[in-house]
Amino acid sequence: MYGIDIWGDDNFFIEDGVVKINYKSCPSLLKITKEIRDKNIRGPVTLRFSHIIEKQIEKVYKNFNRAIKENSYKGKFKAVFPLKVNQYANVIKPMMKYAKGLNYGLEAGSKAELLLAMSQTPIGSPITVNGFKDHEMIAMGFIASQMGHNITLTIEGLGELVWIMEVAHKSHLKVPKIGIRVRLHSVGGGTWAKSGGMDAKFGLSATEILEAVEILEENKLLTNLNMIHFHIGSQMQEISPLKKALREAANIYAEVKKLGANRLSAINIGGGLAVEYAQHNSSRIRNYSLEEFSNDVVFLIGEIMNSKNVQHPDIYTESGRFIVAQHAVLVTPVLELFSQDYKKEHLKLKEKNPPLIEELCELEKLINSTNCIEYMHDALDHLESLFTLFDLGYIDIQDRSNAEILAHQIIKSTLILSANEPNLEFKRLQNRHQERYLLNCSFFQSIPDYWGLKQNFPVMPLHYLNSKKTLRPASLWDITCDSDGEMAFNSNTPLYLHDIDIESEEYFLAFFNIGAYQETLSMQHNLFVKPNEAGITITNDGYKIDILNESPNLLHVIESVGYDSDEILKQLETKLEDSAFITKKEKSDTLRQLKEYLNQNSYLRTTN
Ligand SMILES: *Cc1c(COP(=O)(O)O)cnc(C)c1O
Repeated sequence: MYGIDIWGDDNFFIEDGVVKINYKSCPSLLKITKEIRDKNIRGPVTLRFSHIIEKQIEKVYKNFNRAIKENSYKGKFKAVFPLKVNQYANVIKPMMKYAKGLNYGLEAGSKAELLLAMSQTPIGSPITVNGFKDHEMIAMGFIASQMGHNITLTIEGLGELVWIMEVAHKSHLKVPKIGIRVRLHSVGGGTWAKSGGMDAKFGLSATEILEAVEILEENKLLTNLNMIHFHIGSQMQEISPLKKALREAANIYAEVKKLGANRLSAINIGGGLAVEYAQHNSSRIRNYSLEEFSNDVVFLIGEIMNSKNVQHPDIYTESGRFIVAQHAVLVTPVLELFSQDYKKEHLKLKEKNPPLIEELCELEKLINSTNCIEYMHDALDHLESLFTLFDLGYIDIQDRSNAEILAHQIIKSTLILSANEPNLEFKRLQNRHQERYLLNCSFFQSIPDYWGLKQNFPVMPLHYLNSKKTLRPASLWDITCDSDGEMAFNSNTPLYLHDIDIESEEYFLAFFNIGAYQETLSMQHNLFVKPNEAGITITNDGYKIDILNESPNLLHVIESVGYDSDEILKQLETKLEDSAFITKKEKSDTLRQLKEYLNQNSYLRTTN
């Protein structure tokens, strides 16, 4: 069942052959998809479910607050959402609406993100600012502080501290809280582990921390030092590096506190909480639960503070992936199954066929479970010979087509006949003869981490889940003209889909857990831009499509690469004007037709 029990986190379930959303009225993804398509929207759709974001936020708060209670911890739990993980308005606005009562805030890592944080965070909820800054970005932080925001500027280096002093001396704006990002010697694990370690891109060394405290003291700003921050990298696979980092950061906190930073009151443990993307048990990623994670954080910080006789700090997290990854699902129509070219209906045998074709016909007729491997070998042999005969001009293209269809039928039969006792040859056959599914989407646009990092995203059909799958393993192709837009068959993590006649039936696949990082990392390769977007609220008796944004139309797409769409329209109109049409009506109809196309999005509109 496509590993839904591994990656699904109880957000989805299968019933009556379709994928349903495990919430309130439990509608099927297929029903929602069809309703959107009934509005004449074609191409891939990103479905957003904000109840899943709420569920994740609630889970994090619940677990940390439980751990705080169980450990008699004295500090509070606080959290912010790191904007770089997903800045989209249709993610952040509902999130902030939900988060109001929780004091959940935002983290910014760039000027544009800071602007978002300043406008979207309710006054009182925390804002943290990480990443490299300049004078102006720091001044923006002062302005936010002046507005009444609870904002902490985390310094990544001593230079930034000097600029904070300069802005503080030059303006009368309220000085924000200051945080120090520490450079840990402990390192995380996994693909994104570069954020930690002695040679990490970010953070202050022990010597620099001492210097920072001195500078703050000299400038009478030590009272603004509020937070010690670290982030060991995203998608942390194991818990042990976190424990090391926690011990290190907690000891730094206690030491700095002892240097006289009386208002220091928070440890920010960054993000890193992982999401399970695996579809097969053998490729599971995460070796810990949220329970364990929260227990370890609270217990370890508490223990170190107790031993150093320091008051328990508030604990901040900046988990992003864990909060939003699961809320978004990319639904993509299948446009074509390539083996359909080899359907038996297409066979057009002649009165008199070349002898090898006649033999293929015999093999195809007489194949059974005892002879199938031998017959299949013969068929492949014949096919090779027939290709040679074609190259030499001895058979025509109809013969060649017949040969390909017959050989394909024999391979298909062999897979079915030998499936009960899969032997070496069966495996080899699967490796060689896959079903290729052409998907109406761009992997570069919608799952860039698959292209860049070979990150797996769970994929499965939305329907036909009571039907038998084909024995030919699937490989998936997107519609870009780039051979990297392929999810090739991998025998360690095979995918099997259905044999659907796309000409008469619809077939939808969905990629799950695409809500973190993918949307702003996306590439416009081939000018396939962001897919259609729908925000869905599930109610007790159905669901509502609250947000429905169609993928940008062709004119908007070309504007995004620097063209003036009015100018382009004029050019096209002039070219039509100058061309030799028979009637005036024909000319104006053609222009109308062209304009209609230019107002559609860049994905394909074929059949379904
Ligand atoms: C990216 C980032 C995060 C979010 O990490 P996740 O693994 O997505 O939770 C948190 N804090 C900082 C400083 C970051 O750079």
